[in-house]
Amino acid sequence: MNAQEKHPHVRGFGMASARSRARLVERLRSLGVEDETVLAAIEKVQRHQFVDEAMTSRAYDDTALPIGYGQTISQPYIVAQMTSLLIADGLPESVLEIGTGSGYQAAVLAEILPSIYTVERIKPLYERARKRFAELGYRQVRARLARDGVLGLPDYGPFDAILVTAGAEKLPTSLYEQIADGGRMIVPVGPSGDQRLMVIHREGSSFVEQTLDAVSFVPLIEQRADERTS
Ligand code: SAH
Repeated sequence: MNAQEKHPHVRGFGMASARSRARLVERLRSLGVEDETVLAAIEKVQRHQFVDEAMTSRAYDDTALPIGYGQTISQPYIVAQMTSLLIADGLPESVLEIGTGSGYQAAVLAEILPSIYTVERIKPLYERARKRFAELGYRQVRARLARDGVLGLPDYGPFDAILVTAGAEKLPTSLYEQIADGGRMIVPVGPSGDQRLMVIHREGSSFVEQTLDAVSFVPLIEQRADERTS
């Protein structure tokens, strides 16, 4: 049974959604997104499957939308920008995403890359995203529930690329050791209202930090050290 049969409310939305996605891609092009691999992935992923039914009609607007628990699915332009940065120097074989949320960003990555780990701290969001990955056939996405994704997944790393999709107050240097040599991390950094996208390139033991555009993400929640059990 495919996802549409399981969710009758989206039956009949197939053609309309394909047209909406083509329009969204045109908008992203007009905003300066040039990477054809990224645009093709965005054209393919059914963003309406990653939002609540009540949001279906807005699923292809270029905006962030609420997904419950005070969290949002990222704006498609930002997803395109982060994905472009992630693959700018070639395709990373292994990726870690911190902040699964709806699962949309991970699905876009899965259209391009072979292996994606994604971690989320809010259990119902994690469960919903896992179900979506299974129903939509995104087998190369492995979702994990983690109390604090900033600790990464040391057992599975290092990763060729790390993508943080929540805003960190300070650069999460705890993740540096999980970036593979020659790899990169993309992370929004700064206090709310003054966040910038940052790219960190690892070359051996040196980490080159680059600051890019202003962005606006929900906060990355870091567990206090005294709450950690290990
Ligand atoms: N990438 C998502 C959007 C993420 S919103 C998408 O495509 O829909 C940011 C997500 O990060 C939220 O779901 C939030 O619960 C999660 N988050 C915040 N801090 C976290 C942490 N320390 N570890 C794991 N997940 C975290």
